[in-house]
Amino acid sequence: MADGCACDRHAHMYLSVDQALARGLAVADPVTDTETLPLADAIGRVLAEDCVSKVDMPAFDNSAMDGYAVRTQDLGDGPLFDLPVAGRIAAGDSGAHLAPAGSAVRIFTGAPVPPDFDAVLMQEDCETTKTGIRFTRCPKPGQHIRRVGEDLNAGAPILRRGCEITAREAAALASAGYGTVEVIRKLKVTIFSTGSELKQPGEELRPGQIYNSNRFMLRALLDKPWINLTDKGPVEDDPALLEQVLRDACETSDLIVTTGGVSVGDEDHMPRLFADIGGQTDVMKVAMKPGKPIMFGRRERALYVGLPGNPVSAYVTWKIIGSQMMARRAGLHRAPQTPERAVLAEPLQRRAGREEYRPVQIEGLSAEGSPRLRLMAPSYSGRVALLAQADGLAVIPAEIETMSEGQGLRFLRF
Ligand code: AMP
Ligand code: MG
Repeated sequence: MADGCACDRHAHMYLSVDQALARGLAVADPVTDTETLPLADAIGRVLAEDCVSKVDMPAFDNSAMDGYAVRTQDLGDGPLFDLPVAGRIAAGDSGAHLAPAGSAVRIFTGAPVPPDFDAVLMQEDCETTKTGIRFTRCPKPGQHIRRVGEDLNAGAPILRRGCEITAREAAALASAGYGTVEVIRKLKVTIFSTGSELKQPGEELRPGQIYNSNRFMLRALLDKPWINLTDKGPVEDDPALLEQVLRDACETSDLIVTTGGVSVGDEDHMPRLFADIGGQTDVMKVAMKPGKPIMFGRRERALYVGLPGNPVSAYVTWKIIGSQMMARRAGLHRAPQTPERAVLAEPLQRRAGREEYRPVQIEGLSAEGSPRLRLMAPSYSGRVALLAQADGLAVIPAEIETMSEGQGLRFLRF
């Protein structure tokens, strides 16, 4: 695929990134099959039910401190308060025992506060005496007591379907009493890299060959607990071979992701092959740099995303468009990454016409506290190793031709 000026002159004929994304999302309907799993096995998966708390949180009045529980009505005028200590309640004790009026109870964080006791004194504020405790500050009713239902009542919503069960969600579900949870079944994803020039890293390169980087990039990008991945490896630019792999993948996949072969060269077979096997295709030229040609397709339940072969283009189109289609297909309700505000650490000059995602490094902060972005090489689309040294992508709007040092722009942090 040539990336020259002729393309940019026709940029008005291309779809904008937003238009392409909208078209991609429109064909990416969410998988709806679910399964019920023990909570520990559901970690990393996509929640399929709206969840409400099964219990009050906290479930009982309990102490927020290590110290002494008292009844404020037992306390006189001060300035010194003396109480005998009548018992001891630790976390896990039932707290059913009644303590006598006119006494304090030794209590620890998380332990149930006995009935009628309405304040907890921190142990740091109490002096122990021969008969009990002495303190000088009269506690307020309710002090250091966590009341039943104070955080959440049983029945209150805690999580919506479509979220990923990461650490915070797992903790919330556990505290709300979920021993099992309903999740969306794993998304079946098949990947392969097209190109007769591709060689497995570690092997010796013959003239004309290159190492297959897209395969490993996709393996890393798709390494998710909610994905069941099939990697068909590299496939030569042989139409019969490609068609067979594509046909097989369609039978078994919710999503197929390939790289290469979606452009207009003689060896770019994917759009025609996908149509030949009965798929609906949408090959789009998107006004984005890097990464012009991207293809979507649908054949029965298989959604197909054909990324450009150039590894930087493949990464950027995946990040900006493909990954969002996949998230939607997997049943995730996830807002796309919100760009940060950043400023340029140097002036920029370029050809207008395409929205550009330029690899950048953060070089300190501006006076206002925004990251200052140093542009990496102006010609970067063939240099995937640069991506590994970048801190993120600066987003340069399509119509922009020049920018000055200190000018603000959007930044997508890796
Ligand atoms: P294509 O889109 O198939 O025309 O490929 C565009 C460019 O990306 C060509 O220079 C390919 O050699 C290169 N390329 C395609 N697939 C890969 C891959 N899996 N790993 C590294 N480079 C690739
Ligand atoms: Mg190719």
